[in-house]
Formats: sequence, structure tokens, C-alpha cells
Amino acid sequence: MNALAPRLDAARAEAPVGTPGGAPAVSLAAQVAADFPILTRRVRDKRLVYLDNAATTHKPEAVIEAERAFYRESNANIHRGVHWLSQHATDLYEGARERVQRFLNAARSEEIVFTRGTTEAINLVAWSWGRANLKPGDEILVTGMEHHSNIVPWQPVCEQTGAVLKAVPLTDRGELEPGAFEAMLGPRTRLAAIVHVSNALGTVNPVAAMIERAHAAGARVLVDGAQAVAHQAVDVQALGCDFYAFSGHELCGPTGIGALYARHELLAAMPPWQGGGDMIRTVSFEGSTWADPPARFEAGTPNIAGGVGLAAAIDYVTGIGLPRIAAHEHALLEYATEAALRIPGLRLIGTAPGKTGILSFMVEGIHPHDLGTILDAEGVAIRAGHHCAMPVMTRFGIPGTARASLAIYNDERDIDALMAAIRGAQRMFGTGARP
Ligand code: PMP
Repeated sequence: MNALAPRLDAARAEAPVGTPGGAPAVSLAAQVAADFPILTRRVRDKRLVYLDNAATTHKPEAVIEAERAFYRESNANIHRGVHWLSQHATDLYEGARERVQRFLNAARSEEIVFTRGTTEAINLVAWSWGRANLKPGDEILVTGMEHHSNIVPWQPVCEQTGAVLKAVPLTDRGELEPGAFEAMLGPRTRLAAIVHVSNALGTVNPVAAMIERAHAAGARVLVDGAQAVAHQAVDVQALGCDFYAFSGHELCGPTGIGALYARHELLAAMPPWQGGGDMIRTVSFEGSTWADPPARFEAGTPNIAGGVGLAAAIDYVTGIGLPRIAAHEHALLEYATEAALRIPGLRLIGTAPGKTGILSFMVEGIHPHDLGTILDAEGVAIRAGHHCAMPVMTRFGIPGTARASLAIYNDERDIDALMAAIRGAQRMFGTGARP
């Protein structure tokens, strides 16, 4: 314990995560665990310890039931239907849009475009706004910790328009290099596309300040909120961002549904990026005219049941309260960080102050994939690899990490099981012995 103390102190100074004196993390988890039916299932004859929440969270009964009830009682295609059921389904879907609007505090519901998720929302901005607004020599500024979905869509658009993609470098703790974002913003920057919370590192970026600086430089700002919305309240008007993207499935909602928030005057000036039913005003063989937003950006039959499920997920998390969720996850992250640092040979990747419930790490002598497989045999589900953030791995000179990511239903027992399984893997590999 004595030998460990200086290491823990140093790490705490490096990574002051968590809510000091926060309530025991077990309390909220104990209250909500029964809401998630999947948590009772056994995996490999063990209790399921699910620590892969940054990939997708589990769904509470309220969400599962909302989708089921939609198909059982309200199913019809939406918009333009003259019959009762179609109008009823339309009301539910448009009601879900209003729920997303209130959740993000958007000024009006027409500023919410339903998408398949964050990836599709960013692609929409890239292919519609990007192609219409970018010129040769223009710059798109991203950060070094972006998910691939906020890198890759820009690359073909850059190729087509002659714009250039630039990335703000990271420090050893996994934060943006101080001053680099401001220094890299210039008269050619047309868009800053920045992740709110990194899925690979847990770093929370100071997006409000970044948006202000980017606007002062004349750039638009897109925020990737995939990892943010389930863990903190987001107010797009207070942030002042131009675009905000998120996925339902990382918010206890269904897969295949998410949303793009975009300021109305931007949406109104943007061309469609996909053609089909529902997005037009008139169609002839000579040409077509477009519906107003958001319909202009929602070609084809949408994920209606998914929208209804997303609304139920928003009700669920806001019913618990995002500040309560954040306090729970921070307290649990602090517990997990201390436990992790007691394991010899374990190196944390991403130690930014105030980070969210993501513990990315390497264990000396064990490849992250091997570690993931060994943990799985114990019923402990983590993720191993580059987490769709290869440039982060390149920055740290590693092939990938093992990543445990937390949600409301996790508790100290889950962390204890994780740490015991890591120590078991070390015994198997003959590593981890103290010198
Ligand atoms: N950005 C971040 C930060 C993410 O974590 C993810 C997914 N985990 C995405 C974007 C992409 O989200 P989706 O796959 O739901 O479109």
C-alpha cells in the first residue's frame, strides 16, 4: 500500500476525475438496474458485467415497451395519410421531434432532423452544407480525438471541393494542446467540427469556449455529441453551436435513430443530400422542388418506431436527471481509476481532468484484444481496439486500448469484477507481479 501511495497521489493530481465526496455509485445503479431486463441474463454462465456503454447502452423497459406499443397499437406510415392511424403515427413521430427539441433546448422543432444516428447526421452536414459552402483552400478544423465519423465524411467532401482538413494536436493526457485550437483557426476556417466528449479517452472538450472562438473567426461549428448527451445536459442555444449531432442508442434509446440539430437559417439554405419521397414539394421529369426543413433532409419512410423509442429514452434519462447520472458516473469512475492504478503494469490512456466515465487502458504484456477475450470468459464485456479513433492510437503510439465505459446501471461490483478479471489475465500471462 505504501509503495502504491505516491503513484496514486501522482495519478490523482494528473487525473482529478469524479465528484469529490460524491454519493456511493451503487445507490443509483441499485435503483435503476431492474429497469433493464438484459442485465438479468447470464453470459458464459456468469453474471453479465456490461462495461461497453460507449459502444451502446442497454435499453430500459420503458423504451422497449414504447416501440412494442407503437407496432401493436399505432403502426402506420406518417405524413400525408388521410386515415386516422396515419395521423396518429404522425403525431407520435412529430411529438418525438418536439421531445428532442426540448431535450437540446433548440428554438424550434424544425431545427431537429431525424437521422440514423450521429454518423448520418455528420454525413448530412458534410454532403449538404459542405459541398454547397466549401471552396478550394477553405479549411475544416477537427480535433485529434475525433471518432472516424467526424473525420471520414469530410475527406471525400474535401476532395470534391478542394477544402483541407486540419486536426488540433493532443497532449499526453489526451486534452487539446493548449492554445492550438485558437492558433489553428484562421480566415480560411469555414467549419470547426469538434467532438464534445471523446469516446476513446473520455476527455470533455470546452466546447462553449471553442464555439465562441470559432464564431469570432467567422467559422461555423458542428459538435459531435454522441458521448455527451447521456451524461450531461446539453443546451444548444446556450452553446451557440450551428450543428449538434447525437445517436439514440447511446442514450438508452433504440439503434438506427438519432438527430441533427441545425440552426434554422442554415437548414433553410442547405440543399437536400438524399432524394426520394417526403422531401419534395413538387416532382416532374424536368426537375423537382424541395420541401422545407426538416422534411427536406428526411427522404423516405423514416424509423418511426425508433423516434417513438427515442422520445421514451429521453423521458427516461431526464426523469432520473442528467446531473444525478453525471454524479453517479463520476463517482464510479473515481473508484475505477483508483482500482486500476493499483494494478501493476496498467497504464491509463486519457487522464484529462473532469473526464467522463471512460477508462481506456493498456496492460503491459497483454494485447488489448487478448485481454478483451479473457475478460469475456468471466462475463465482463469491455471493448478492445482503436474505438473508431485510429488517430488517437497513432498519437499515443499504441495499437489500441482496452476500454471500460460506464452507465447508470453500473456499480462498484462491476468494477471489482473487471479488476479481478484483469488480475486473472495477468496471472495467465505471468505478468503483473510487483518487482
Ligand atoms: N462520435 C462518437 C464520439 C462516438 O462515440 C460514436 C459512436 N460510438 C459516433 C460518433 C458514431 O455514432 P453512431 O455509430 O451511433 O452513428
